[in-house]
Amino acid sequence: MPVHRSPFERLREKFDESELRCQSCGYVDTDGKWRVTTSGGRVRYRFVCPVCDAVETRELQLE
Ligand SMILES: [Zn+2]
Repeated sequence: MPVHRSPFERLREKFDESELRCQSCGYVDTDGKWRVTTSGGRVRYRFVCPVCDAVETRELQLE
């Protein structure tokens, strides 16, 4: 049975594959994952650097 994937799931996959790099200290978390929250048509991605506690965020608007 084919699996239907929503735009959100495709976006999430793209982010899951992207590098988690802290903009503040340059640390790359190879085992880390974005934390995902959704509200309305928006998807927020959040990553807290384990080294310096800087917070990286991305926000996407779903069509
Ligand atoms: Zn950092």
